Parts: sequence; C-alpha cells; structure tokens
Amino acid sequence: MSEKLLTERKHAFLQLTDEEVKLADDFCEGYKNFLDEAKTEREAVDYAVAAAEANGFVPFDYTAKYNAGDKVYVNVHGKSIMLAVIGKNGTKNGVRISAAHIDAPRVDLKPIPLYEANDTAMFKTHYYGGIRKYQWVATPIAMHGVFALKNGEVIKVRIGEDDKDPVFCITDLLPHLAQEQVTKTLAAAFTGEDLNITVGSRPVRDEDEKKAFKMNVMKLLNDKYGITEDDFLSAEIEFVPAFKSRDVGFDRSLIGAYGHDDRVCSYPALQAIFDCGVPEDTCITVLADKEEIGSTGNTGLQGHWLAYFVEDLAKMDGLEGRHVLCKSTCLSADVTAAYDPNYPSAFEANNSAYVNYGVGVSKYTGSRGKSGTNDCNAEFVAKVRKVFDDAGVIWQMAELGRVDLGGGGTVALLISKLGVDTIDVGVPVLSMHSPFEMVSKLDVYEAYKGFKAFFVN
Ligand code: MN
Ligand code: MN
Repeated sequence: MSEKLLTERKHAFLQLTDEEVKLADDFCEGYKNFLDEAKTEREAVDYAVAAAEANGFVPFDYTAKYNAGDKVYVNVHGKSIMLAVIGKNGTKNGVRISAAHIDAPRVDLKPIPLYEANDTAMFKTHYYGGIRKYQWVATPIAMHGVFALKNGEVIKVRIGEDDKDPVFCITDLLPHLAQEQVTKTLAAAFTGEDLNITVGSRPVRDEDEKKAFKMNVMKLLNDKYGITEDDFLSAEIEFVPAFKSRDVGFDRSLIGAYGHDDRVCSYPALQAIFDCGVPEDTCITVLADKEEIGSTGNTGLQGHWLAYFVEDLAKMDGLEGRHVLCKSTCLSADVTAAYDPNYPSAFEANNSAYVNYGVGVSKYTGSRGKSGTNDCNAEFVAKVRKVFDDAGVIWQMAELGRVDLGGGGTVALLISKLGVDTIDVGVPVLSMHSPFEMVSKLDVYEAYKGFKAFFVN
C-alpha cells in the first residue's frame, strides 16, 4: 500500500545491477579524462569540437540543406558551443535542448598583473565567479589561457598540469601569526585584493636592473612564448587547481575534482547528443560560457546566439524561429547542492538532493522567495517525470538548500524567456565551487541516461 501512495527514496546502487554499476564506473573514466583535459571554457570547446568531429559532426552552414540524422555544431567565439542532430520532424514540433555550462569559478589575472615585492615576483588577480577565497590559498594552481597578439596570433598557455611542470601558489598566513586574522569574519579575513600569486623568487643577473625579479619572470616568458609585458593587456589567463580528478572513498564511489560545476552536466549532455541516433525532433546540446558571472557577453546565454541558431534551423523548414521556440523544451543542465552531513542545518532534509540518489530535478531555483527563478510549469515537470521513469532513469527532486539561507540561479530563466518549456536537471555536488568538488559516479551516469532519454523519447 505505502509503495503506491507514498514517495520513496532508494539508493541508486540498490536499484542497479552490478553490470549497470560497471557501466556507470566505466562512463566516469571518460568523464575524468574530460575533467583533466578541459579545465577552462576554451579547453572544453576544443575538446567538444574534436569529439564532435570524431562523431561525424560538421560546422553548421546556414545556407546548406540538412536531412534527418545530419550532425552540425556552432563554435561560439571559441568559448561556447552548440551541437545539433537534425530530427525526422526537423523543427516543426519544436527542438529539444540540453544546456550546460563550461566555465567554472577560478582566479583570473588582472590586465597588468606582474609586480615584485620583497624579492618575490607576483601576479595580481581578479577572481571569477563565486569562490570562497580561503579555499584558494596554500594550494597548487595551474596557469591556463591565451595571449592574443597584435599580429592576430593567439598563443595558448597551459603550465602546471604536466607532472614535470612548475605550479603556482597564493600564500596563507601561518597560524602562529594569525591571532588577528582568526577573529575576523571570513569575508574580512580573505579579500580579493590579497589573492596574489607567487610566480618567482630569483632575479636576473644584472645589478643595474631595478626590477630584477619581475624582469626574470618576463625574460622566461619571453624566451618561451615571445611575449612582452604589454601582451598581458590582451590576454585571458585563468588560474585553476593544478591537481587531477581522483576517485574518492574506499569504494571509489565518488569523484573529487575541480570544475564538476558544470562539467558534470556538460560531459553527459555531450555524450547524449553523440548517442541520440536519428531523433524525432531536432536535438541540441549547448555548452555555454559565463554562467558563473551571469551569462553575460557574446558567449553567455544572455546573448542571442542560441535563439539565432534555432531561427536558422526553423527557416530551413520554412518556419519562424519564435514559433519553433515556443514549442521547444529544455533541460537546463546544471548542478544542484548535495545534502552535506557535515552541514545539516544548511539543508531541508525532505527536499534536498543526496549523492547516489540519481540526477536531481529542480522545479525552481532562486533565492529569498524564489526570486530570479524560472519555476517550471507543473505540466512540463510531469512530462519530464514520465520520460525519466519510462526510461528507467534514477532521479530525485532537488531544492538547493534551506529557505532564506541563500540560493542560486541557472540559465533556465534565460532559455525559458525565449518561450521554451525549461526545467533544471543536474548532478548533486558536495563542496560546490571549491577547488575539490565531489560527485557520485552513479549520479553522473544517471544524468547521461536522463539527457539521452529526453532526446530520444
Ligand atoms: Mn553551475
Ligand atoms: Mn556554479
């Protein structure tokens, strides 16, 4: 009786066979490789383009004619990407979108970063996204990004990922001298302006050189990349944790890594578009930049590029983009908070997502009275319930945390405002936005199953 009338939660491991658990674990080996290869939005786009081309995708041409099963992609300024498989019905019944993001919180360089202080060469930084600053000190970080030169050349930089590479570090105060610091609030104890990176401590051998430590770093960079200090003005340099993804726990059930938010939805959404066959409706996976700072700019989803793409696809079918968008559906694929037994008071137990209980579905996000949320229509929630249940996807309803404690948002409100029925679906994460976030391998695989079921059913 109670089984039919009452909602029950069951650990995913207890719902899966050993073979299914192995499928999930194997899938996560590919995911871990993606985590290590693609730590920035640019690297994630490079990875997606290479994987897409290997799977038969070609660059989209809005003057071309496409047939069911054709696979195309649009590279959005090297920092976002859209991949589509043309459906049997084309766009006439709407398109199906899975939208994840590939940027992650990190520490960027200022345009004039290099200076020296007390015989140490340092970089000034400006953090990106919602970091907890105390987590970024005294931990090895790697330098990723590009220098764009005046001659049009773009030089890629990636230092600190190879075991033979040096790494970099932001120092922290020793506890012996932290009596004042420990009495401050976290916000006051760790400020953005204090997040300066140590990048060298030997001078050039030149007694006349007044900035010998800064000069030595610049000389090494010039020798390796041919750049001058001015070239930092047109660079995008991002510092991210230098370590690789690792299995966590005696049972290896979890993956610890930098940037699960939102690579843990990006990778499954990418694999789902590769594996969707010839779908009924045209399917699109979107991997977007700039979510962590409000989806701004011409690579963020506040931009019109997704709507323009759907318009182009609609025109090929003799339809108007707006009519197609209003019939379309979207999984806004972004992580949710996993209930953390170390911090139970931050959560409400009945409505939280738990690791190993499947992919999370959030009707709404937002903060302080659902402010800023899409709040998906009940009718579309019901459709997604049916699609997931029919396909055997293990999923759970998820609310971010205790009411009035805080909150968050996703790209759901941006896509829903195009007229698209949109719901938040994503993997629960522990220690979200930290340098070492954790997810369950089974949840990652259920996310893949969910995105795929949404595309093919
Ligand atoms: Mn996110
Ligand atoms: Mn985030």
